[in-house]
Amino acid sequence: MSQPRGRFAAYLDDLPAPTPTEVELALAQPSLANLATLLSPAASPYLEQLAQQAREVTLQRFGRAVRLFAPLYVSNACLSSCTYCGFSKDLQVARRTLTVEQVVEEAQALVAQGFRHLLLVSGEHRIEVSKDYLVRCVEALRPFVPSVSIETQTWSDDTYALLVEAGLEGAVHYQETYDRDRYAEVHTAGWKRDYDRRLASTERAAEAGVRRLGIGALLGLAADWRADVRAVAEHAVWLQRHYWRTEVTVSLPRIKPSASGFQPLVPVTDAEYVQAMAAVRLVAPEVGIVLSTREPAVLRDGLVRIAVTTMSAGSSTEPGGYLHPGEAQEQFAISDERTPAEVAAMLEAAGYEPVWKDAFALKG
Ligand code: SF4
Repeated sequence: MSQPRGRFAAYLDDLPAPTPTEVELALAQPSLANLATLLSPAASPYLEQLAQQAREVTLQRFGRAVRLFAPLYVSNACLSSCTYCGFSKDLQVARRTLTVEQVVEEAQALVAQGFRHLLLVSGEHRIEVSKDYLVRCVEALRPFVPSVSIETQTWSDDTYALLVEAGLEGAVHYQETYDRDRYAEVHTAGWKRDYDRRLASTERAAEAGVRRLGIGALLGLAADWRADVRAVAEHAVWLQRHYWRTEVTVSLPRIKPSASGFQPLVPVTDAEYVQAMAAVRLVAPEVGIVLSTREPAVLRDGLVRIAVTTMSAGSSTEPGGYLHPGEAQEQFAISDERTPAEVAAMLEAAGYEPVWKDAFALKG
């Protein structure tokens, strides 16, 4: 089953500025076809209405449950060069790959804080983070972590199947940008340089039985961040239609300071960020929206009332960073430094239910 890759590129065309009447029509009948209108500067005066509509849709489809998860960085070794990343192979930074036993210890620390959904994260290093290593990590966590996902390099169908057999539930593959030219500029060497392989990886994971699929774009990487938001939304809806038994989530992180020193081509303001989240919620009402600790607490608290359904909390972005912080390079700086308990308390105070356990895993 191949996806309509050509269509993503079509979003990069320049579009005429919508009129107020067109914005109002788009708000009355939001769809992928008019997402560009909802994201446009012409829609910014309607931000409050957009946010209110998004809030209603989120409450209707997802209720007041907000799933909490923690990233568990297992390695920052990487054989790829991505100009925006603090783990890029050319950077002289402190590298560390956890042993399986150390992964278990980090996971135990997170479970003790309440987490039952962990995301194993690594750079792309086929020797240090081999498929066998990852299978062993998943197997070791399975007895006490109900939901394990990965955000690593992309794998073959056979490897995804092996990981599913070991207990893997989710896989996250950010395309970073759907602009092929920009993709080639910022991915200068290594496995990740292959745009098509990366784009197809989510399908390979789905066909191997991975039940939670995460995709996303790094806003600010390409000059036209709105085009990337549209491509992510289109991609998510496409995945949802083709793999209807899976759960699809999107994430739209903004670029944060890292050892790479990379600066976004175009900054995305907080108001534009809220507009993007709300617009995606309206045109993709069944898609989960994930928000990381990259964003500041006050913005996260607002977005959870509008569109977000899954949040990380208390995150460390360095391998071993929960038990032994400061021994390895972090991937990027986080903004929301509250503890998981503080984030859960914020959710409860706002009338939401922090969900630590994983509904899919309980069903299975
Ligand atoms: S984005 Fe991933 S593949 Fe690229 S340098 Fe960072 S860790 Fe490596």
